[in-house]
Amino acid sequence: MQVDVLCKLCGNALKTVSHALWGYSKLKSIRLNCGMMSGVERVDELAFLDLMLLSSSRLSRAELELLGIVLWKVWFRRNRVIHGGSLLQHEEVVGCSYRWKLSASGSLKLNVDVVLCVDKQLMGVGLVLRDHSGLVVRAAA
Ligand SMILES: [Zn+2]
Repeated sequence: MQVDVLCKLCGNALKTVSHALWGYSKLKSIRLNCGMMSGVERVDELAFLDLMLLSSSRLSRAELELLGIVLWKVWFRRNRVIHGGSLLQHEEVVGCSYRWKLSASGSLKLNVDVVLCVDKQLMGVGLVLRDHSGLVVRAAA
């Protein structure tokens, strides 16, 4: 059995989490547009765990959450291309204009996400209820 160890997109790097989510050369503009790691030399060479450790010491909670969203979108974008879909533009991945906002003091905020799998007739729902400080009060799926 042959094991594919090279990146399916560029074919010239090992298939690692660091490469897929952060180091891949074509992610440079995403890394720059995101701006969260500006001033860090050779940021594209960081191992994923080092990126997470550095991020947790440099970024605010909101920025960390945004970084998580960006990394998820990079992963989604990558898998979409590998499975024959079209390439998302970098602006669609970074989307730094989006900011989750806390609810007003004394109130709760409910975020809901739904996934549909029409061909299998399945549906999933996720719910997160947070207080005005961002603390999770309840979560369900
Ligand atoms: Zn690659």
